[in-house]
Formats: sequence, C-alpha cells, structure tokens
Amino acid sequence: MRRYILPACRTYYSCAANGQRDISDLILYKKLLLGEKNMANVIVRNATYQYDLLRPIFFEMIEKLAGDKIKPGSRVLIKPNMLSSAHPEDAVLTHPQVLRAAVEYVLEKGARAQVSDSPAIGSFEKILKQNGAKDALQGLDVICAPFQDAVEVDIGKPYGRIEVARDAVEADVIINLPKLKTHSQMLLTLAAKNMFGCIIGFKKSQWHMRAGTDTMFFASLLVAIHQAVQPTVSILDGILALEGEGPGKRGIPRKIGVLMGSDNSFALDMAVCAMIGVPQSKMPMLKVAGDRQLLPEVEIEGTMPRVENFQLPETGQPIFGPAFLQNFLRRHTLARPVCDQPLCKLCGKCRTICPAGAIDEKEASIEFDYGKCIRCYCCLEVCPYAALHSRETLGGRLTRTIINKFS
Ligand code: SF4
Ligand code: SF4
Repeated sequence: MRRYILPACRTYYSCAANGQRDISDLILYKKLLLGEKNMANVIVRNATYQYDLLRPIFFEMIEKLAGDKIKPGSRVLIKPNMLSSAHPEDAVLTHPQVLRAAVEYVLEKGARAQVSDSPAIGSFEKILKQNGAKDALQGLDVICAPFQDAVEVDIGKPYGRIEVARDAVEADVIINLPKLKTHSQMLLTLAAKNMFGCIIGFKKSQWHMRAGTDTMFFASLLVAIHQAVQPTVSILDGILALEGEGPGKRGIPRKIGVLMGSDNSFALDMAVCAMIGVPQSKMPMLKVAGDRQLLPEVEIEGTMPRVENFQLPETGQPIFGPAFLQNFLRRHTLARPVCDQPLCKLCGKCRTICPAGAIDEKEASIEFDYGKCIRCYCCLEVCPYAALHSRETLGGRLTRTIINKFS
C-alpha cells in the first residue's frame, strides 16, 4: 500500500494509489517531510455498511491504531455521534453497524464496553432505537447510557475548570466514532468536534451562550475540550456522509464510501478536508489547532477518493477589526436561522434547545429574535422536520464579495 503526506497548515489533495490524483507535489513533500517529528497516520479504506464486509475493515484499522492499548479488563468508552433522533439513511448519526463493529472489537479484546453520548434533546434510549443501534447491539455485553455525572477538569485559560463527563475522564480508552457531516457554525463536524459531546446536556448551551457569536472563541473552546479528553483513536463514518445544511436533517446524505481512522483527531480532520476539497483555513477548529502548533504532518495510508463539489452550509466570514465592533458586525454578517413555515409542526424542540431564548412560538409559526440569536445553529441540529436552515444576510454577502475580491 502506498503512503502519501499531507503537510500541516496547507491544503493538499491527497492521493489515491490508483492515480486518481496528481501526486507529484505529494511525493515532493514526502521527501521533504519524512522524518519530521510530529507525524500522524490516517488510514483510509473503502467501505459499505454491509456488516460482513465492514467488520474486518474496522477490525484491521483499529487493531493497527489502538490494538495495543485495549487490554483485557480495560474500561473502554465508545463515543459515537448520537445527538438527536434520526434514521440511519438521514446520515446524521454514526451508523449502527459502525457502532456494532466497535463494540464487538472491544469485547473480543476482553475489555469492558460502554456506549455513551449526551444528546441535545430527547432520550438516549429513543435515539438508539430510532437509529437502529439498539437492534445492532442486541445480545452484546455492552452498557448503553447517556453521560450523567461530570467532573471538573482544568482546560486552561480563559475557560478554567469546566465540567466534563466522568465516564470520559475515567475511561482507560476512548474510541471516538464521528460522522462526516457539515455544520452550520463550524463548517464541518468531524473527529475533534465530536468530543464536545462529553459536555453534559444544558452545560453545552451555557458554553454556547458564553461564546456568543464569536465563532473563533467557540472553536478555541472545542479544541481545549478535545485536548482535555483526547480520544485514544477516532474512526470516522464517511460511508454515507452529510453535505449541505448539516448537521441536522436539512443536510443531504451523500455516499462517499470511506472509513477513515487515526490516533490523532486533527490529522483525521485534515485528511477529510483534503478529500472533500475544503481548505483547512476555512475550518475554525483547524485554524485554532494550527495556531497552537497542534497540527501534525499527516501520512495517508490507503486510497482516498476524489470528492467533487462537496456542498457546504452557508456560514459567515471571520470578522476582523476593533473589538467593540465585532459583535455588531457578526450579528449582521453571520447567516441567520430561518424557518420554512410549511414544514414546521410546531413541536417546540428548537425553542427548548435555544440557549439564547431567541425563538418564540406564535399561533401558527415560530419567530426568531435576531437581536438575541447567537448563531449557534443548535435549533437546526434538533429540528426533526428539517424546517430550519441558515440564510446568508445581505451584510454577509457583501463581506464575502469584498473578502473574495481582495484575497
Ligand atoms: S422549526 Fe422544527 S423544531 Fe422548531 S417547532 Fe418547527 S418543527 Fe419543531
Ligand atoms: S435561534 Fe437557533 S441559532 Fe439562534 S441562538 Fe437560538 S438555537 Fe442558536
């Protein structure tokens, strides 16, 4: 199997061993960079959800990346993306067959398996049922429970001590199972962001409120949380990904057909960006991680498909300028949540999740108070009827035009 290098802080398309990409640059960079200290391996494999085919691929990948760390009796936390109710074909959550492969691997190693997450809304039990995970894990000796207890962890300035799920802090091994999908605030939600699920329930909303409209502050918090609860290994479900207006049901499922794994979340996220053609500089979390010297040189093992025209959500542009103006500018340039009223069933879930109290329910519709809205897009994530989406403002369009013109 051929290996190629993705340099940190740059966007280079990786390379398929079958020649789908022009690899000359990559070979050059391989020569220049081999032997660099901060290297991370990303394994890429073509895969489908057909379990008899998926299982050996998953087992081979995790054995290479973390086989020596999962020992008999180890307490292993498996952290999928199980944020809200959805069916597997919605491509919103980690697929149940990927989850099953992780649990079976842990049990085969003689370790103890626990599957946990902290749903934004609704019961964890119901989410597992609707997603098909309950059936997929039938008969396996695994604990499935939402995170409940928290312990305080110092994640450094300016956040200080924050409450993180005890199960994540105390686990011997964490297997992170993110989904490849878009995210209206962070552009994409991949391996590193999936660890935000280790913050319990309403505490997540409090952090959204504290960050307000400051996307980079929030990205920096997410990076700090990830560093505090570093997963041992991440295996990303990119078999059926979600493009467009993710991360909720408004997104569009797209078959990519890959399983990707690494023991370095940022390396994995960098590889995904290269695969789908998203410059790292557009990813707030990778930008923060780069500024903190956390991005490794990435070595790709396997065949990465060419993914053309991957649709991203409408977000906003980073805001520069005097601090006292930034909040005002963000409110007028970041994309706003809007409601497709005919699709809305007035279920009230968006109003329940909104950390800013910016949603009001009228007789036959919901209304946003954009003065209060902090553009966290949690409402889009939980709407069960895909009634919400983000729309770029006139100010945002103008800003984008100006930035594109001068960049
Ligand atoms: S927008 Fe969606 S979540 Fe909000 S009330 Fe309507 S259907 Fe429910
Ligand atoms: S309205 Fe939606 S985007 Fe705005 S603060 Fe509430 S949940 Fe976040």
